[in-house]
Amino acid sequence: MSDCIFCKIIAGELASDKLYEDEGAVAFRDIHPQAPVHFLVVPKRHIASVAEITPENSGAAAHCFEVIAKLAVQEKLSGGFRVISNCGENAGQTVPHIHFHVLAGKTLGAAMV
Ligand code: AMP
Repeated sequence: MSDCIFCKIIAGELASDKLYEDEGAVAFRDIHPQAPVHFLVVPKRHIASVAEITPENSGAAAHCFEVIAKLAVQEKLSGGFRVISNCGENAGQTVPHIHFHVLAGKTLGAAMV
């Protein structure tokens, strides 16, 4: 998608603070961190949101969870972490390319799951 900022990051057209990349996904630090550790795991394939996952494309999303498990070790998140994917307007999704926020580095509290 030519006007998608995450597609531009994946294509190398926009800079990012990248933690990880493989054939199916990238992970980079959020520019507005909401916790001491806050990065995004994003499939390279453009899927708009969780609502657009189908049997045909679900592998791309599932792969992100393998990456999250790997990065939890790489980034030493042994104290725990939270994974969030905002989907649609009411959830506050601002970038319409599916992504998983990984938050850690402090006690995140009981609010909002
Ligand atoms: P969401 O609001 O759930 O769609 O999350 C989008 C996230 O992308 C927000 O937390 C933004 O701070 C983050 N973001 C937007 N542009 C960039 C960028 N160029 N590099 C890193 N993070 C970004």
